[in-house]
Parts: sequence; structure tokens; C-alpha cells
Amino acid sequence: MRQVIAGNWKMNGLTADAEALTQALRDGLVKAPTGAVVVVFPPFTQVATVGRILAGSGIAWGGQDCHIAERGAHTGDIAPEMLRDLGATHVILGHSERRRDHGELDETVREKTVAALKAGLIPIVCVGESEDQRAGGQQQDTVGWQIKGSLPDGFGGADGSGGIVAYEPVWAIGTGRTATVEDIAAMHGFVRAELVRQMGETAGRGIRILYGGSVNAGNAASILAVPEVSGALVGGASLKPADFLTIVSAAT
Ligand code: PGA
Repeated sequence: MRQVIAGNWKMNGLTADAEALTQALRDGLVKAPTGAVVVVFPPFTQVATVGRILAGSGIAWGGQDCHIAERGAHTGDIAPEMLRDLGATHVILGHSERRRDHGELDETVREKTVAALKAGLIPIVCVGESEDQRAGGQQQDTVGWQIKGSLPDGFGGADGSGGIVAYEPVWAIGTGRTATVEDIAAMHGFVRAELVRQMGETAGRGIRILYGGSVNAGNAASILAVPEVSGALVGGASLKPADFLTIVSAAT
């Protein structure tokens, strides 16, 4: 299974920055082609610009969220079909920052996932425990409930390739504190077992599980070598082309 390296730009990138970053990625991957799947997630305002620069490059792009509805009276929201219209192939759903800033619950995330799949987007559904939950030893219970609540039946399709899960411990996001490879191995093994239990053997084994939380140029190779890590969801380091390209080069 090719690993996926996803760059989540979050709320960063005016036009000039987005153009420069995207062009640098495109040029970098021409010089050093990768076997990995590379997807970038600019803010909505830059999706069209990024798409124009990446068209035909082999690098994919997506949105950081989408609405449940196909269209209509939802001021300020973006429908999955609108992302498809701009050539997007993926969408991040249920990121912990959206759960925190917009009160998104597992049920909302599941409805968004259904809408994204219907529009032909590959959802990257994020799960992960908080610092308190980890301190209380509840990381597996928390993530187990999130998976159960956020993923619709049939997630990933027949072979699992149509859906991605990202395990992102909340305390590791943007903090520089990465989970240890032992913790990552334990949690990814747990997520894999849950996926197999819920989606069946074939789909459950085919769904990629990305790790996210302070992945950088220095730690990417060791994280990407952990069993059941099928790629990385990269925040801060995805804004630095040299660092992001180093992470991509560590992927298989
Ligand atoms: P980070 O963010 O790499 O800056 O920790 C990861 C994410 O939130 O997806």
C-alpha cells in the first residue's frame, strides 16, 4: 500500500504564499519523484489557485472540511461538490481543531463523511485522545468510540481504499511533542483491529491509517516505519517546502 503524505495548511496562506509553496512542492517532486501519494490541503480560499498549479503534477489537493448538504441556505459553508468542482480528491473531516472550535461531534463527522463519499471525495477522518484522556489511560476507549461514531458503514468501500483514518493525539498537535513510536504502534494496532471489526477483514485492512501530531523532517522516517502507519498528516511542517519534501522522501 502506498503511503499517503497529507499537508494540512490549516488557516495559513495568502495567495502569494500559497503560490510559492505549491510551486516549490511541484518543482521538488519533479526533481525527486516519490512512490507515495501526496495531497495538500490549503484553506478554501486557495484551493483553486493550488489546483491550477498542481494540475497534471501527480500531487493531489483537497479541502479541510465540508458541509453535509449538497447546496442551499448554509451561509459560509462549502459543499463537497464544490471541492470536487475544483479538482479536489480528498477532504479532512473531524480534525480536533474543528471538534474544538466548531463543536463538531462524532455524529456530525459521520454525516459529513457520508456527504463527502457521495460526492466522490476520499475522506480523511481524524480521531485522537486529549491529554487528560491519555493521562487517565482512556486513549483506546476514546479512539474506539470516535471510530464507531464517526465512520459510516461501508467506510473505505470494498477494499478500503476509499477512506482514510488519521490518528492524531490532540496533545501532540502543534506542540512539538510527538507520540513515541511504541505509543504510535500500540494505537495504530488498536485502530486497525477496530477497523477490521467494524468494516470486515478486507476493507478493514485496506483503510490507510495516518499518524498526525508534530511530524517533522527529523522524525518522519522513524514514524513512517512503524507497523500499521500508512502515512502522515502533517500540519506545521507542511508550510515549509524543504521540510515537507523531506517527509515525502521518507515515505514508501
Ligand atoms: P502539526 O499538525 O503537524 O502541526 O502537529 C498536525 C495536524 O493537525 O494535522
